[in-house]
Formats: sequence, structure tokens, C-alpha cells
Amino acid sequence: MQCWDNKNECMDRAEIEQLQLERLQATLNRVYKNVSHYRHLFRQIDFLPEDLNSLDKLSELPLTTRQDLMDNYPYGMFAVPLREVVRILAPALTLDKPMVTGFTTNDLDRWAELMARNLTAVGVGKDDVVQISLNFGMVTGPFGVQLGAERIGASVIPVSGGNPFHQLKIMRDFRTTTLVSIPTFAMQLARTMESAGIDSKMLSLKYGVFGSEPWPEDMRKRLEESLHITATDGYGLTEVFGPGVAWECPEKNGLHIPEDHFIPEIIDPVSLKPQPSGMEGELVITTLTKEAFPLIRFRTGDITKIDNSACACGRTHSRIDRIFKRSDDIIAMRGTSIIPGQIGLVLERINQVVPHYQLVVERKDHQDQLLVMVEISDRFFFDEMKKQRRFVERLHRELSEFLGWEVSVKLVEPGTFEHSLIVVDKRQFYFHSRDLDITA
Ligand code: ZN
Repeated sequence: MQCWDNKNECMDRAEIEQLQLERLQATLNRVYKNVSHYRHLFRQIDFLPEDLNSLDKLSELPLTTRQDLMDNYPYGMFAVPLREVVRILAPALTLDKPMVTGFTTNDLDRWAELMARNLTAVGVGKDDVVQISLNFGMVTGPFGVQLGAERIGASVIPVSGGNPFHQLKIMRDFRTTTLVSIPTFAMQLARTMESAGIDSKMLSLKYGVFGSEPWPEDMRKRLEESLHITATDGYGLTEVFGPGVAWECPEKNGLHIPEDHFIPEIIDPVSLKPQPSGMEGELVITTLTKEAFPLIRFRTGDITKIDNSACACGRTHSRIDRIFKRSDDIIAMRGTSIIPGQIGLVLERINQVVPHYQLVVERKDHQDQLLVMVEISDRFFFDEMKKQRRFVERLHRELSEFLGWEVSVKLVEPGTFEHSLIVVDKRQFYFHSRDLDITA
């Protein structure tokens, strides 16, 4: 077994818990002192950081939601003065206020360490050539991968996304061994190779490091066969670190979560109560080492369960199941997250009234497509064709500009959606059935 950081990745349970308790106490002190949001919440429940003398008490503290982060836009959740922040990223999660997260020098150093662990677990080493085919910009993903790959001494090509032919030329000429991308993009590359008559055995590819959108096991199999790689899943959150929050080892039986940096919990997304060990529910994460942007009991919205059993790879940190479902309506697609309510705001801005609408996500030709269906009503230009056309054009333009890719817009008959879901994710059909259906 190959570990980047044997000492920390393989410590025994008692050591992990002792370290977690010390780091949790330090984190609580930090946020109590520096983040008014947390100070206010802790005072409401009469809690002082020194009161926490065991890890069990963490579940008595309030949860942090994405709404809390938005309410404290832009710097309200920062726990250090801005002069100590060396990088600011603002993933375009919403249309009016992006989510702003910051990193100190130490934060970036830890992120590099975590990504180095992740890439080493996958098999990547200093002789590898890592092609990062993720869009650099304000999203966090590619930066973290680059930090980690450089930390282990691999050669990094930050090529960004797009243009499969260009990507394949680089891949062939530069002898890329490791592809980092979203899985649907890897599928596009595989198809481009097929149509261009390129045999993947002629390439030097060995590893595919994928994540940030759901991809089922049969897709993994297809990718591994067509690209001649071993493909692994990674998990991240822009609010925490982007990638580097959990990753698969060669056993591919869950994603190890580095428990010396995070405390994972599972809650029932409705009652918000902690779930018994091993049960499925919403993942909640507390950061233990982040300086600029620490989070206490952050609700990820992702549905999974925690497995504490020993892993054959020898790493002792718990694993979470691969993630295919959410407890809310946030849509993960094309490397970004979309909050449906924000599309409602655009509709309101264009037409003053929020009509009934539905967002349909489908996977077509190995690419995820978003269709926005808007219901016509008497309050919403019932019979003015010209106005309808203008509206469709404007909505299409605004949403496509914001997301950076084409969105389809369609008007539908009155009464179509009155009692149905805002989000219909048809990609769900690809996924293995799960015993808990929280979205129902
Ligand atoms: Zn393992």
C-alpha cells in the first residue's frame, strides 16, 4: 500500500479521536473569538468553547447552512483578517451573490497535503504527468488538484476544460498518465478518440481522477475499458476545500475522509437529529484545521453513510459511500452547483412574477443538459406570443451567460407543474437504487 502520509493516514482510532478533540477545541475558540455568526449562536445556547470536553458534545451545537454563508456575504464568516488571506475564490453558486471562501498560507499548504494524499492513494507519483482538464476560474477544484500534484512532484499540465481534440493532442504528445476531469467530459474524450480512430492503448494514460457530478459504476466500467485506466472518485465541497475532502483508495469501496482534518457526521435531513452509526442520511462536516474559513457542522446536502470498518488498504480513516443523492434541490452538473431558487429569482427579475417552473436535468451524449420549463398562466403573459418569445430569448441568454454553457428554455401549458417537483433529475435513472428516498 502506498500512502503519502503514513503517520496521519494510518493512526489508530484513539489517536484520531484525541487529535480531533484538541483541534475541535482550538477551532471552536477561533470561531467564537473571530466570527460573530458563531459567537452569537453559541451565546444563544449558553455555550462556551471550553465547555466542550468530549467529541459527543459536538452534536449539541447548531448546524451551519449555505443560507448562513450567503447571509454573511462576503467576508462575514472569515475567521482571520483579510491581510492574512492569500487566496479568495468565489464559486458562482448563486446568481446574485457568489459564495466567497478564503485561504491562508497554511490552508493552502494543508489543501496541497490532502490532495497529495488523494493522488497518492490513486497511484499517482512523481513520475506522472497530470493533465487537469477542469475549468480554471473561480471554482475551487482545479487549484487544489494542481497544488497536490505539484506537492508530490508530478508534472502538471493545467490545460483547463473544452476542445476534446486539443486535449487529446496534448495527452498524446505530452504523454499524459493522469486525467483529472468531470466524468462526463472523460466520456466525451473517449468518444472523440473512437471517432478519430485513436486507440487509447497508444496513449500513456493510467489513471482517471474524477468527481463533482454523480457517475454510476457502469460508467466507471465504461471509462476504465475505453481509456485503459483505473478510474477513481473524489469528493469535495467548494465551501470547504473543493476536492480533497474524501477520495477512493484502490479498494474502491468508499471514500476515505481525512479525519485528522474533518469530523464527519450523518444527520436525518428532516428531523436534523444525528443518525445511528452506519445509517444513511445527510453528511455534515466540521473542519478542524482551516484558518480562514472554518465551518462548524456544515450541512453538505449530500446523502451518504459512514463506514468505520477496517479498509484493506490499511488507511484507518472512515469512508463515506459514493454520493448519488441530495437532501435538497441543489443540482450538481458540469462541475458547478445550481440552486433552483436562484433561477426563480431570474424569472422574477425578467417578469416581476415568479411562475411555476421546473428544471429538468438529463444526460444526453455523455453530457448533462439543463432544460428550464416555465408554465404559462394568465398572470404570466397568457396570450402574447411576441412577449413570450422575448421572454424565452432573454431567459436563455441570461442563464447561459451565467452558467457558461447553453441552457434550454421551454414554455408549457397552464397547470402542468402545480403539484410537482421543481427539480426532475433524470440522471437518477442511471443510479443504483438506494433504500432511502429523501427527495420524495
Ligand atoms: Zn482504503
